[in-house]
Amino acid sequence: MRQKVLLMAMLLSLVQTLPADTQNPDSTPDIRPFGNGQYRGGMVSSTFGWRDKDGVKEYHTGVDYRLPSGSEALATCSGKVIKVEDVDGYGLKVVVQCGDSSLGGILRPNQYSTLVAHLSEPISRVGDFVEKGKSILGKTGNSGNSEGSHLHYEIRDNGHPIHPGLLIMPERVK
Ligand SMILES: [Zn+2]
Repeated sequence: MRQKVLLMAMLLSLVQTLPADTQNPDSTPDIRPFGNGQYRGGMVSSTFGWRDKDGVKEYHTGVDYRLPSGSEALATCSGKVIKVEDVDGYGLKVVVQCGDSSLGGILRPNQYSTLVAHLSEPISRVGDFVEKGKSILGKTGNSGNSEGSHLHYEIRDNGHPIHPGLLIMPERVK
């Protein structure tokens, strides 16, 4: 019994003293959120940053990829689904907290989270562990504030949207 308690204490202190997971390539969101060459489309229709929308300047917090409705939006990092919700603007969105789950059932989060929006249908659910480039988060669509089927993709660094070109090859986000 005493040994078990000691073991638990050791494991807990190990988890607590592990550095933030920044080195694991699987938990860094550096790929595009859809299959390579799997679909027609995937062109960037609107990139990150200030843009002019109907004469009004707005800050676009992600990259828009033109994709036919029903395409698969894939996880771009390994991690855990922390939000699936239908909201104004984004429409149906799925948020993944990136990190390492190799300890089994425990996510060691890093600074990144990702968001896909305007989906037509969710596939992953809150609490699901997802695999980079493999797990399907949802089907693309045109929900929320969207003119035509596309996938809005966002990377956040400690909660702040960053230019996905910082992590994905720049020519793929222009
Ligand atoms: Zn967008």
